[in-house]
Amino acid sequence: MTITLVGAAGGEVTGSCYIVETKQARILVDCGQFQGGKKAEAQNRPPTAPNFVLDAVLLTHAHLDHTGRLPLLARMGYTGTVYGTPATLDMTGLILRDSARLQVADNERNNRKLLRAGEPLEEPLYTPEDAEKILLQLRPVPYQQEFEAVPGIKAIWHDAGHMLGSASIQLIVEEDEQTKRVVFSGDLGPRSAPILREFEPFQQADLVFLESTYGGRDHRSFEDTVAEFERIVIDAVNRDGKMLVPTFAVGRAQLITLLLGKMFRAGKVKPFPIFLDSPMAIEATNIYAKHPELFDEEMTALIRDHPLRDDLKTMKPTPTADESRAINDVRGACLVMAGAGMCNGGRILHHLRANLWKPSTHVLIVGYQAQGSLGRLLVDGAKEVTIFGEKIAAKATIHTLGGFSAHAGQTDLMHWFDVIAPSKPRVVLTHGEDDQRAALAKQIQQRHQLTCKLPKIGDVIEL
Ligand SMILES: [Zn+2]
Repeated sequence: MTITLVGAAGGEVTGSCYIVETKQARILVDCGQFQGGKKAEAQNRPPTAPNFVLDAVLLTHAHLDHTGRLPLLARMGYTGTVYGTPATLDMTGLILRDSARLQVADNERNNRKLLRAGEPLEEPLYTPEDAEKILLQLRPVPYQQEFEAVPGIKAIWHDAGHMLGSASIQLIVEEDEQTKRVVFSGDLGPRSAPILREFEPFQQADLVFLESTYGGRDHRSFEDTVAEFERIVIDAVNRDGKMLVPTFAVGRAQLITLLLGKMFRAGKVKPFPIFLDSPMAIEATNIYAKHPELFDEEMTALIRDHPLRDDLKTMKPTPTADESRAINDVRGACLVMAGAGMCNGGRILHHLRANLWKPSTHVLIVGYQAQGSLGRLLVDGAKEVTIFGEKIAAKATIHTLGGFSAHAGQTDLMHWFDVIAPSKPRVVLTHGEDDQRAALAKQIQQRHQLTCKLPKIGDVIEL
């Protein structure tokens, strides 16, 4: 058996994709998109050659950096099955449709420039039709149930605690009268985060691919972050301030919603208007509501006799652009969740233009802000920024809440690995920048005397 790394290696954190090849079959584990700038995106080619026979695709979870190249498979004629947990398939539909729409819009904008420059026009990476085609090939698999994905390869999905439906996958490969187990951690979530169940590690592997996004450090504790969030909210409400939360549609928006509902229920603050100002976040929230079987005990108990929406009567989803603009006229304390999460586009921009210059405004940064994004400029203390070509003074208070990450920090990654380590697997660290995976490799060496491989894209591992 060979496993080829087609992404999320060599210090990259995006583009997750592995080709697993036996004498009987070829499968992909994940088929993710490279993200973050032109250079990364230029790598978004199909993961396999056009004449390559592919028997199945297995998904760990729905994030674009794990699913975003699936429409390219449809485009090159792949008609086989794509397996994932039921919630992963729901979320994949949401994420790929949104991505295809953005691909087409970006392409149109780019082509207008090319046209003016007299250059040849380009095709979008993929279209909504390509996305719809591959979505018809999705098939659900339950957690914890071994099943034969292709002849000679059985697979089991275990909860990864990272996003709704997320999983680690164990392959049980029969070849040459031998059985080998290969585990893909997928992205692992922090153990203390609410809503979702925590990860369930596997106990056995001959080879394990472990993510290392935060392999070198721990986040601020979740409890401390919640306490800080509550302090900011109470203070802003007392001063009639507007709170703007640039938010990723899936995960963080639902977390903030839960925290506010709990504050209202506990009487920590009087209910005030909340706007879920993102069509995608509204849809993601509906998908969460469809899957209460995936909630952890605390969340299940919280909603058992008393649904959260009873606490959140002041929350208003605002799907249309007109409803979004009308939020500008709301007086007094309110909180707006809008995308994009890094303020590099989306409705959050018009809210920032209207409110960033006011000292009474609070901006709550709850997610990662990449170098060069408007969100990063605000975090770094810019006094003035440009939004829609207009100079806006940054007089609002900017709060950075570091503990709401959807990724496990080093301690939790080691907790997951400690369970599988006694089976003495070969270890390959992926999905991490070089300093992070080197730090995790050091920990694993010290604690378990196992040497980790830090692969490059294109590396082939034989087992
Ligand atoms: Zn992820």
